[in-house]
Amino acid sequence: MYHTEAIVLSRFELGEADRVLTLLTPHDGKLKAIAKGVRRPRSRIGGAVEPFAELELVLARARTFDVITQASVGHAWLSLRDRLESTATAWYLAELSERAVEERAYAYPVYALLRRAYQLLDDGMAPTRVARWFEFGLADALGMRPEVERCVECDRVLEADETYRWVPVLGGTMCSQHLPPPSEQMPLSLDALKLLRAYRRLDIEAIAGLRLPAAVEAEVESALRRFIRVVLEREARSLAFLDEVRTPRQGRSVTATG
Ligand SMILES: [Zn+2]
Repeated sequence: MYHTEAIVLSRFELGEADRVLTLLTPHDGKLKAIAKGVRRPRSRIGGAVEPFAELELVLARARTFDVITQASVGHAWLSLRDRLESTATAWYLAELSERAVEERAYAYPVYALLRRAYQLLDDGMAPTRVARWFEFGLADALGMRPEVERCVECDRVLEADETYRWVPVLGGTMCSQHLPPPSEQMPLSLDALKLLRAYRRLDIEAIAGLRLPAAVEAEVESALRRFIRVVLEREARSLAFLDEVRTPRQGRSVTATG
C-alpha cells in the first residue's frame, strides 16, 4: 500500500463497474490504476475520480494495475468545467502531460505545472493564455525551453529592427542570415517575438493582464503548438476538439453584431 496525490488525466471503463484511470503523480510519474466498482451508484469513491481533479489516494500494488483503495478530493476545480473552452483546454493539457511523462518516474515539475494550470482555468483566466503558458513551461520542464532571445544558429541577440523566423526543430528563433527549409520554419513578427519573451520572462498573472491583438495571440499559438509538436514528436489528438469548440463562438459573435 502507498499514498500519493494524483491528477486524473484520462480514464476508460473496464467490465461492468470498474474504471481504469491514468494518473499523474508528483513522484511516481504516470501510472494506471483501477477503481473497482466505481460505476455502481453506491460506490464510496465513485464521485471522486473525475478527470481534472486532484485526489489524495491510497493504492495497493498489484500485478497489472494498482488498485485504488481510498480516494478523497483535494481540489475538484469545478468551475473550469462550466465553460466548454476551458474544459477542452483541460483535456489538451492533460494529453500533453500524459505524453510528456514516463511511467514510474519523478514528475514533480510537470505535476506542479498542470496543477497550477487547472487552478488558473478554474479561476477564469483566458484558456488560450493558460495553454500557451503551459506549453512554454512544459518544454522548459522537459529541458527544451524555447530560445526567444538569440538566434539558434549564430547565437546573436535578436534586435527589434530585423526579421526573424521561428524554427521549432532547431529550438526557437533564428535571424534572417540563415535559410532553414520552408517546411520547418514560420515568419515571426516583432509583436509575436515580444509575447514569446513575455511567456519566458513574466509570471502568468502578469501575462493575463496584457492587452494583445488577436492576430498576435494567434501567431504565438501557432508557434508554440508547432514547438510542442516537435518536443512531443506528434500532434495532440485533443487539439481538434479544442479548435472545434472555439470556432462556433466566432460564428456567434458575427451573428450578434450583424
Ligand atoms: Zn543567426
